[in-house]
Amino acid sequence: MPYCAILSCKNSTRNVGRNNGNVSFHRFPNDPSIKEKWIDATGQKNWFPTKYSTICSIHFTEESFAETNKNRRLTTDAIPTIDVLKTSTYDDNNDLKLPANLSSPCSTATKRKLEKDPLLNTPKERKLLHRLNIAQKKIIKQNKKIKSLREQNRRRGLKIRTLVASLESLKKKSLISDEQ
Ligand SMILES: [Zn+2]
Repeated sequence: MPYCAILSCKNSTRNVGRNNGNVSFHRFPNDPSIKEKWIDATGQKNWFPTKYSTICSIHFTEESFAETNKNRRLTTDAIPTIDVLKTSTYDDNNDLKLPANLSSPCSTATKRKLEKDPLLNTPKERKLLHRLNIAQKKIIKQNKKIKSLREQNRRRGLKIRTLVASLESLKKKSLISDEQ
């Protein structure tokens, strides 16, 4: 069942109807650089279209269509631009939002107050305060790690796409055949 590959779009032949003239489903282009832009528009990360993947017509401007007989066909260089997601902006929106009390677990003012409070200044309380400090430092360190891993992941995704694109162009040149 064809459905739209753009994450924010719920159109499929089931809910718009295969013969509904208003929405049509278009397969991904073969041209690697245009295909790349289509993939980017889906907002999907580390995802590659199959030959059955489609994007629906609502994401294309009128100029993208070449009207031939009854079939609505896209021009070869058409790129979805309407209501699309961008993998890059999707990344930002999807950023792990830590609760404020976790990213800055205990304000310096609160800590100072705790340290000065004579009731809290028992050895046991001081020990707890010390453990709190250690835990906070650990959280900050882990947040940094999460950030750098996410960046690493993003770069790997880009690399995979580049490799897939060059693999496809190699296939085209028949340097590699599918039978191998
Ligand atoms: Zn769609």
